[in-house]
Amino acid sequence: MSNHETDSIHDEWASVAHDVLSTMEADGSRRWLRPRLSMGDWWKKRRVVAYLLMVVFVLIPHLRIGGKPVVLMDLVARQLTVLGKTFYPTDTLILAFGMLAVFISIVLVTAIAGRAWCGWACPQTVYMEYLFRPIDRFFEGTVGRGGKPKAEMGGMRSIARIVVYLLLCMFLAHTFLAYFVGTDRLAQWVRTSPFENPSAFLVMAGVTALMMFDFLYFREQMCTLACPYGRFQSVMLDEQSKIVAYDPGRGEPRAKGKRPAATPAGDCVDCHQCVVVCPTGIDIRNGLQMECVNCTQCIDACDNVMERVGLPKGLIRYSSQDEIARKPKKLFRARTIAYPLLLLAVLSGFAWAVGSKAGFDARLLRGKGAPFSITATGNVNNSFRLRLVNRSSEPQQYTLSVVTPENVTLEVLQDDLLMLPPGGNVLIPLNVEFLPIQTRGSGNKAAVLSVQDGQDRKHDLPFKLLGPR
Ligand code: SF4
Ligand code: SF4
Repeated sequence: MSNHETDSIHDEWASVAHDVLSTMEADGSRRWLRPRLSMGDWWKKRRVVAYLLMVVFVLIPHLRIGGKPVVLMDLVARQLTVLGKTFYPTDTLILAFGMLAVFISIVLVTAIAGRAWCGWACPQTVYMEYLFRPIDRFFEGTVGRGGKPKAEMGGMRSIARIVVYLLLCMFLAHTFLAYFVGTDRLAQWVRTSPFENPSAFLVMAGVTALMMFDFLYFREQMCTLACPYGRFQSVMLDEQSKIVAYDPGRGEPRAKGKRPAATPAGDCVDCHQCVVVCPTGIDIRNGLQMECVNCTQCIDACDNVMERVGLPKGLIRYSSQDEIARKPKKLFRARTIAYPLLLLAVLSGFAWAVGSKAGFDARLLRGKGAPFSITATGNVNNSFRLRLVNRSSEPQQYTLSVVTPENVTLEVLQDDLLMLPPGGNVLIPLNVEFLPIQTRGSGNKAAVLSVQDGQDRKHDLPFKLLGPR
């Protein structure tokens, strides 16, 4: 086989490999992407958003509302604090409505604005493009333009780069941990030996290792291979959703260099600038692709080219599949009507659940063993356990009484348990004693236990007295 034939087969395989996966070489090995940088208008806007988000991420664990953290996901205490309000596992309805609202919001935003999240706010994009790639460019000597460096990095530079990555990943891992343990506990742990808090140290080391793996090695493959959100695009987008799109009606037929007046040619000068800036290595001119994270780099690159060749900007732009096909815009469509209505219903449910959240939970459970016993004085005894959860933000003293029927004696076996700290959760053993006449005939009698906290919030718990017929 001639060299020419070998080259052409290689090119063909390279093209097939690239079509299958933008980060795969013809021989199946990893194609390392070194996107060039296009510092256009969109890149500058995204930079403002990215640095703002980084600052917000670092600051949130340090902020307090009414002495409570703005966000704290305390897994050990099984408490979630959001905007100074604490939720417990018993707040199932509130948590379910909250999660549903987040999910519907994501679906709604995607239906309208496409992958705005991926390009503008996803931590993977934000940290990769505005923190770690600039570090690469600094060490590779390609500051301000990116792309392939003229020479490979030397050993010392490579080590220095890895050390900077490690320090940043450790800092981010500590910040991440602060969302789960709070800044006070984290500060205390940082000052003590890792052997005193081995599990916290292991979590921090694990998160650091995962971040190092992601930002140093895995990179854009997180978006193109691992992230499930990208895979759901085909169901979440419709033809009217905003996407970053190339306009083939204006750009094709593409042609390089000067065009003779007689040859019809589109505006695309086939300069490949939109491809070399792409952080996921795709060619936007091939149409809507799952790998596109809507980072807008190709818009900036192409606008720059259009400006230089004296053509109007916007050959690649924020558009929609319908707009590119010259179909009219439709603001109201099934998704943009149904999703907001659904979101409104879920948010109303959330507001109702938060508004009706009582200061405490109380549940009466029957004691184990025989349904009743007869005491030495001939009375009937029923035993119970009362589950009490203080969901208020203050300590509470609870009082119990049997409101119906009359002449029933209540005995709290551990009355010190009736004083509960915020978030406190106890099981209190109770005995109820009454005359056998109360259950004569049916063997049971309806009764009500009233539980009241220090702020006059009350739960009436119906139960049955069980005794001889
Ligand atoms: S940057 Fe614009 S002109 Fe250049 S290849 Fe891409 S679409 Fe065509
Ligand atoms: S195609 Fe354009 S918008 Fe999509 S990821 Fe590549 S550069 Fe970003």
